[in-house]
Amino acid sequence: MICDVSKRVHSSRRCSIPVTSLVHEASSAVPGMIRFSQVSKQYGAGRDALSFVSFHLEAGEMAFLTGHSGAGKSTLLRLVALMDRPTRGQVVIGGIDLGKLPRRAIPRYRRTLGLVFQDNRLLADRSVADNVALPLVVAGVPRREVDRRVRAALDKVGLLSADKAKPGELSGGEQQRVGIARAVVNKPGILLADEPTGNLDDEMGSQIIDLFREFNRHRVTVVIATHDVRQLHRCRPCRRLVLSEGRLLKNGVLPCGPG
Ligand code: ADP
Repeated sequence: MICDVSKRVHSSRRCSIPVTSLVHEASSAVPGMIRFSQVSKQYGAGRDALSFVSFHLEAGEMAFLTGHSGAGKSTLLRLVALMDRPTRGQVVIGGIDLGKLPRRAIPRYRRTLGLVFQDNRLLADRSVADNVALPLVVAGVPRREVDRRVRAALDKVGLLSADKAKPGELSGGEQQRVGIARAVVNKPGILLADEPTGNLDDEMGSQIIDLFREFNRHRVTVVIATHDVRQLHRCRPCRRLVLSEGRLLKNGVLPCGPG
């Protein structure tokens, strides 16, 4: 079940805390604007994984990043997440030029982002609640606050009652929702998702995209890298960044379909 986060209700299966309480802190500290200026990335001596890519996303936008396998989608997300550095060009996130960010500030910067992966990367031997708590524990957040935020995040994804389960006891879609809860538990201003529906059937994939939309309605900037045409066929007109062989082919609000 995907809970309706626009309502405050009190059943343990439903939402008790509005989604806005999950997103405000970090989004005001680092507004979710994303700007790439002439960004290239080359791995070794091969061709550019990204080649002179420029675009701007306003804070609070939702964009689908599409293109064939190997087009550069993951590379682009990795540059935003500072998991890699560009070979040339400038990446500015929320007014911060990442090229000038001191090394000691990187962990704090990363806490302003939520990352969701295709394989969800949950720890199999930990409970759902422990998995979601991980970013907060690493950040040294006090235990009581951790518990409160974990419950709020699980509530947002409709999995409050699964807090003690191990990930292996859940369906693929539920595991992905746990991954999303872990991504939003730090109240990020930006959510980055790399093929989040790649392992899911059509129905579960749609529920996951709806969940991202719900966070986006509360001003979280959302970028979803996907080549899942099923989702693009139902995406409604939406902002699309289309990559091909590392180049940005299209950037704009496109009709539904692979584009
Ligand atoms: P996509 O996410 O669209 O499938 P990627 O960003 O993963 O594309 O890859 C873009 C290109 O960069 C591909 O040619 C890929 O082989 C190459 N690439 C990606 N990561 C690395 C890496 N760590 N080392 C070498 N080449 C890489």
